[in-house]
Amino acid sequence: MRTQLTIVGGGLGGLVTAISAREAGLEVTLYEARKELGGRARTTPGPHRANWGPHVIYSDGPLWAWLDQRGLARPARRVPSTARIVFRVDGRGRTVPPRKVLTGILRLRNTEAPVDRSFRAWATERLDDPVTAGRISNFVGVATFDPDPGRLSAAFVNDRLRRATQYPPAVRYIPGGWGTIVDRLAAYARHLGARLETNNPVDHLPAPPVVLAIPMARAAQLTGDRSLRSTGTRTALLDVAITRRRVDPFAVSDLDGSGWIETFSIPDPSVAPTGEHLTQSQVGLFPDETLEQGVARIEALLDCGYREWRDRETWRRRLTVTAESGALDPPGTTWRDRPSGDRGDDVHVVGDMVAAPGLLSEVTHQSAVDAVTRLAAERPISVVAQA
Ligand SMILES: Cc1cc2nc3c(=O)[nH]c(=O)nc-3n(C[C@H](O)[C@H](O)[C@H](O)COP(=O)(O)OP(=O)(O)OC[C@H]3O[C@@H](n4cnc5c(N)ncnc54)[C@H](O)[C@@H]3O)c2cc1C
Repeated sequence: MRTQLTIVGGGLGGLVTAISAREAGLEVTLYEARKELGGRARTTPGPHRANWGPHVIYSDGPLWAWLDQRGLARPARRVPSTARIVFRVDGRGRTVPPRKVLTGILRLRNTEAPVDRSFRAWATERLDDPVTAGRISNFVGVATFDPDPGRLSAAFVNDRLRRATQYPPAVRYIPGGWGTIVDRLAAYARHLGARLETNNPVDHLPAPPVVLAIPMARAAQLTGDRSLRSTGTRTALLDVAITRRRVDPFAVSDLDGSGWIETFSIPDPSVAPTGEHLTQSQVGLFPDETLEQGVARIEALLDCGYREWRDRETWRRRLTVTAESGALDPPGTTWRDRPSGDRGDDVHVVGDMVAAPGLLSEVTHQSAVDAVTRLAAERPISVVAQA
């Protein structure tokens, strides 16, 4: 008898689990509550293809390597070499960051940072310059989604600083947005023989073995395990399409706050109608801040990079996400302190709040691979399905 594995959740985590489990010889049925697969990795339908959650993949990470090994990563696009970034410093946009920020990043990214101190305290001491340390902390808003990345563990933030400042950039864009990756994953999972059942919300814990690839709060409800807690932040998102101008920048980095704007139609013109640009922006929200206030901060950032954008606007979407943009490690903690994916009795939890290394959705991917490794190790199965 082959082992029957039930997977709850059809986002990136559920789909990676389904493929890995089929490759390990398990019988797989996946249940997804919504009518479409993808979870946060979905893209708006229609001519403006805005990603909800994941926007880019890092080609130096394990998720990219895993996708590439299965022929699922390409085609993908890179940041064009002509891409222009605007930096907001003291309320004004400039095309080069302050020299001290550049040299500071080079010094910090080549140094091992401590786990038990905040990034701001550590960087201030290393650079002997609180203003530059604050600006570099704000830059890492791009990969933390937090209003104050400097408050987090120095080791955690410095790792993201290193990944985000590689040259040439390691980020890759999948044509058509992340919905394209979801389609590729779903087709591959079905090809391997996984059953993917959409429109099927699960309201009780299925018989084990089971993998819960759902948000942590939902996994806590299904298992009754209150120790399943997430450590994310709250972020305002504003996506705006504008009529295209040749001088529009590729990105705006907010060194005064921690916001970030990226023109996704520059690496991938297919995400906006001809003649338009699609920008996607984010700013971490402080505890009492409203979406309106966050949107106002983003609009001020758009003013720094995109001339007369208000007159050029053709489409917009705005929303708040809470605990949806990945786990954050405060000082004194690492990913190892997050809830373990192994909940005992053949119940496994997968997602970006689980104890696994990586950046953003790489954590989901790693926790899915780990769950299948544990499942396969406990069973006398050696059949490896090949596509
Ligand atoms: C604004 C933003 C930007 C981001 N940018 C990036 C980025 O650039 N790069 C990157 O790598 N990552 C990024 N991320 C992180 C990335 O989106 C997530 O890590 C990843 O999508 C999480 O996938 P998941 O499968 O763990 O969870 P989800 O995508 O949330 O999937 C969970 C699924 O479970 C389903 N579900 C829930 N309850 C049930 C139930 N009871 N029964 C059945 N199904 C159920 C849901 O409908 C959903 O489809 C970003 C996230 C956000 C919010």
